[in-house]
Amino acid sequence: MTRYAKIVCTLGPSSSDEQTIRKLVEAGMNVARLNFSHGTHESHLQLIQTIRRLSKEMKRPIAILQDLQGPKLRVGVLPDAGVELKPGMVVNLYAIEGGEPQKIQGEIYLPLDVPNLARAVKTGNRILLDDGHLELQVTAVQGDNVVTKVVLGGLLTSHKGVNLPGADLKIPIPTEKDIVDLQFGLQQGVDFVAISFVHTAAEIRTVRELIHKFLPDQKGPGIIAKLERPEAIHNLHEIMHETDGVMVARGDLGIETSPSLVPIIQKEIIHMANRHAKVVITATQMLDSMIHNPRPTRAEASDVANAIFDGTDAVMLSGETASGSYPVESVKMMDSIVREAEAHIEEWGHAVDFPKDSLQDDAIAMTRAARELAHDRKVAACAVLTQSGRTALLMSKARPRVTIMAFTPNENVYNLVNMYWGVTPVLIPFVDSLEEVIQSVDTVLQKEHKFKIGDQVILITGFPLPALHLPNLAMLHNIGEEAK
Ligand code: PEP
Repeated sequence: MTRYAKIVCTLGPSSSDEQTIRKLVEAGMNVARLNFSHGTHESHLQLIQTIRRLSKEMKRPIAILQDLQGPKLRVGVLPDAGVELKPGMVVNLYAIEGGEPQKIQGEIYLPLDVPNLARAVKTGNRILLDDGHLELQVTAVQGDNVVTKVVLGGLLTSHKGVNLPGADLKIPIPTEKDIVDLQFGLQQGVDFVAISFVHTAAEIRTVRELIHKFLPDQKGPGIIAKLERPEAIHNLHEIMHETDGVMVARGDLGIETSPSLVPIIQKEIIHMANRHAKVVITATQMLDSMIHNPRPTRAEASDVANAIFDGTDAVMLSGETASGSYPVESVKMMDSIVREAEAHIEEWGHAVDFPKDSLQDDAIAMTRAARELAHDRKVAACAVLTQSGRTALLMSKARPRVTIMAFTPNENVYNLVNMYWGVTPVLIPFVDSLEEVIQSVDTVLQKEHKFKIGDQVILITGFPLPALHLPNLAMLHNIGEEAK
């Protein structure tokens, strides 16, 4: 049985060798995420080459998602033993790279590697340290000194992450590092690029313009906006119009807002992404305990299943595959939870709630009609011919309860559409007539995908071929008919 939702695996020290990547693919990895907060261009290049080689050898499409770091705010250098912060304590913060903590007249001064700190925060703002485990509240800003009171205490050590919800640091996104990394990713032909800490649609436009500048004659990768800042949730509509996809980046989102808001924001983002036909990935801590244990908690299993019922296109593993002790087991477990959930999607999933005016759009009307026909005729597959990936995406967003075989002559599209819900990519030679498409689809489905003579499929394509058209033709085809 097809698994519809896709699995994104973050690669890292636990999963950088060829043997493990092969096992991840066998276990069900559809998308490899390269986290540019870590590693060097050399190490990422090696991973990309290994993935592309294995993909060819195993005849399995693998999309590559380049995740740009964005602005990383960190605590400066502290003594090796760290600094114990106790609730109610007064802590002064100052912005300096690599500064030492000081004690002046009994008060603690802590260095934060955060540019413009004193200009960015206001009295009442929260400052979260070490993934939100420690919390400070700003009580005053005096020149370059930010005075805070400890709300949630604990041991703070060097270089821990800093989150400043609601503060405007005026750090441009993409950052300089992001732009250098993006150019590298484009040279390597990544399929998706994720932008971290997005606030506005304008930031996505900037990345799109950079992609056009670096790759003037190509479509370039799909852009994924990582939604982790309250400002991004506030600007969700504009961002959704501008981006190709979104990630519910629940780690930082839970720090920047509150863990109690994450489930509702997740539902809102997935719902809106599906209405706008944008890819949506649900990320972070999905099987977190599997970093150390061979089995997930029951709560984690429920979380993965509920993301499927919410309507996500993909679920993502982070530390589980990047640095955990059980990377392959994590993918196998995720695969089996998703399959179990999908077997009950009619009972517990949400029907796609298309905007009322979307049927004015020929392509959406066609793919939705194809979905109805697929169900009425109980076809074996929806076969789409896709040159840019758009027809595969729209068919995926119509959420048919049957596999979508996406035929494309374009190798980049072959990998790209592997992110899409329910889509199995198939690489075929370039064809320029409908007859040739039917012949090619028919042969491949019989020879490589075990379809039988007499199986019925729906073929969806833009017509006339070979020009790039959105889907405007759907036809029933019986396998083997053309071969007679
Ligand atoms: C997240 O915060 O949930 C996330 C995916 O971002 P990153 O892992 O890149 O910090």
